[in-house]
This record gives sequence, C-alpha cells and structure tokens, in this order.
Amino acid sequence: MLNNFKKLSDHIGSLKGKKVLVRLDLNVPVINNEVRDPFRINQSLPTISVLREAGARIIILSHIENADTSSLSGVAKFISGYYPVRLVEGMDELRSAAHDMKDGDIVMFENLRLFDGEKANSSVFATELAAVADAYVNDAFSVCHREHASVVLLPKLLPAYAGTLLCEEIEKLSCAFNPPHPFVFVLGGAKFDTKLPLMLKFLDLADTVFVGGALANDLLKEKGYEVGSSLVSKSRVNLSPIISSLKVITPVDVVATNSYGNDIRRIESVDVADRIVDIGPETVAQFANAIAGAKFVLWNGPMGDYEHGFSSGTEGIAQAIIESGAYSVMGGADSVAVVRNAGLLDKFTFVSTGGGAMLDFLANGTLPGIEALKQ
Ligand code: ADP
Ligand code: MG
Repeated sequence: MLNNFKKLSDHIGSLKGKKVLVRLDLNVPVINNEVRDPFRINQSLPTISVLREAGARIIILSHIENADTSSLSGVAKFISGYYPVRLVEGMDELRSAAHDMKDGDIVMFENLRLFDGEKANSSVFATELAAVADAYVNDAFSVCHREHASVVLLPKLLPAYAGTLLCEEIEKLSCAFNPPHPFVFVLGGAKFDTKLPLMLKFLDLADTVFVGGALANDLLKEKGYEVGSSLVSKSRVNLSPIISSLKVITPVDVVATNSYGNDIRRIESVDVADRIVDIGPETVAQFANAIAGAKFVLWNGPMGDYEHGFSSGTEGIAQAIIESGAYSVMGGADSVAVVRNAGLLDKFTFVSTGGGAMLDFLANGTLPGIEALKQ
C-alpha cells in the first residue's frame, strides 16, 4: 500500500543535471548562529551526498522555528563544513541562483516559514517554487503530518521521489503493523486526547501495553485511586476499553512529591496532597520482567516529569527495553531527549526523527506528505 511512490534510490541515475527541490527537516537548535544539536542535519547528509554524486543540482528547502533565530544561516554554515552551500533569501534570488547552478551545486532556500504561503498551503507559493526546478524529493518524515505547501503541494507539481530517510522511517515504523510476537507497546508522556487513537490501535495489535507517565495518572484516577494534584488530561476521553483490557499494565508504585519532599509510594498510598512525577522502582522491575521475552517493542513518551529531574523511571524503562534484546523502535521529541541524555540512543534498533509525525503515522498508517508522493 505504501510502496506506490517512487523511491529516490531507484531513480537517482535520472537526476544528473536536474534541478531538484529537496525538502529536509533542518529545524535544529541554533544559538548565536551555531548549531547546537546536529542530529537532524546529520541524518540528512547522506541524501545530499547521494544527489551530489549523481550530479543533481540541489536546492534545499527547510523550515526552522527557533527562539534565537528565524534564519537557516547557522544551518547553512554547518553544512558548508561538508560541501559549499549558498543561502538565498527570496524568490528572485532563488530564480537567479537556480539559473546559474552547475551539476553538484547546492543552494539553500531561506526558512520556508518566513513565507506565508508555506503554512497556508498556497498553490501560488508552491507553483513559484516548482518553477525553478525539474524534480522534488521529500526526505522530511518529521513534517509529513503537516499540510504545508512544501510537503503536500510540490509533489503534485513536479516528478516526486521519497528520500532514503523517509523510506527508512516508513519501513521501520511499519514493522509495528505486522510485528513479531510477543509485542510490547509502551506509552507514556501526556495528553490522552492526542494519544488515544494510537492507544486503541495498539491495544489490538500488541500483546502487552504498558502505560506510564502522566497518561497513567488518568488510568489510575479512572480506576478510583487518589492522584492528588498530579497532571491529568484536561479533556474527558472514554478510557473504559483501556481499563477493562487485560493487556494493559499500569504502575504499582510511583514517585510522589509534596511540600515535604519526594517519596516512593505504592499507588494505594498516594495522598490528596501528592503529585505523581515518575513511576517507581517496583514498576520498573515488574516491567523489565514483563518485557524479558519480547520480540518487538514500540515506545513513545517519558515515564515522568523529566524536565524537573524525574527521569529515572524513563531511564529504567529504556534500559529494560535494551536488555530484552527485542527489536526496538522509539520516538517522540521528549522521549528521545531523555534517552539521548542517558547516552542510550544508539542502543535502540530504530529511533524515529518524527514526534507528531510518528504518532500520526502509527495511528493512521500513512501521512499527508506520504500520500502526496503517490502519483
Ligand atoms: P514525546 O514528546 O516523547 O511524544 P510527550 O510530549 O507526550 O512525549 O510527553 C512529554 C511530557 O510529559 C513531558 O513534558 C513530561 O514532563 C510529561 N510527563 C510525563 N510524565 C509526567 C508526570 N508524571 N507528571 C507530569 N508530567 C509528566
Ligand atoms: Mg513532546
């Protein structure tokens, strides 16, 4: 179903001398024009290299949303450590730069979101961009859930190809639709309303579903436990199919904080003055036990309020997944941040570059940006 689009790797030979718009996600932290975390850029470099070696004329498109800057100039400077890159600011400059390009040259168009037409999904904007090029590559999985001009309109205007990284995301995440068993699904983080479709889908597909983080607070509350002032979802969702499922495991102990400090509590002992901020050690041990024989694990969402130092539950879960030896797929901006800080990122079989895009892909089996590539 997902393979009825053209893969860049199958068509690379036809792109010599062609001007190619390459949509990447180079939205990385930049401070004082210096890239602070090059993960996404590094993930994109192979695609740029392959196009360069094939003699394509590369026009990079990306957005950046950053407290410090709205320019891709720091990103262009970082990439110029590998290949010469010319950053161009507006449509006129783009047209003249594209006209002058030679095979293997790289031009980077300034932050797409500086142009109203990008988010507005404007066909005028897309048509102007498409006019400078002969082909389009999407290698920005993490923005494929957005109906933006560079994601869903450009592939309708030019011969369009799926980049290597995009294909890998689709392939690895799709394993979860036909997983080897036992399959354990681990869900944490916050906001049940955004994660419910995912939860219900994997309640069907998985053998065991472990719920931690603030989502577990909702389940514990629904089961009648006291959760004090813990974070719970604002909108009411129907949790009864989850509560009644025998596949679902919720925490047996938690880290609770109150005006006297932090304590590890059995969930029966959480007090009205408490706030649950992490899962407890017995829960981690029980989870490690439950996961020991797993063949496939899919994980999204931290187990606790890691921004305030409560990351040990999340690290314990990460360690248990790694030690199980299961095929492990994880993602989500916050989950990746905790695992990266713990130095465990490269121990997972696959780490998705997508946050919202990963959740939507897993829930729906496709994304608008992927559908738009089908010709
Ligand atoms: P991801 O980005 O990995 O998909 P989410 O965005 O769903 O994850 O959730 C991350 C947020 O959930 C973090 O801000 C974290 O602090 C919060 N969180 C997790 N558990 C708790 C908890 N027990 N109490 C408060 N916040 C929590
Ligand atoms: Mg998040």
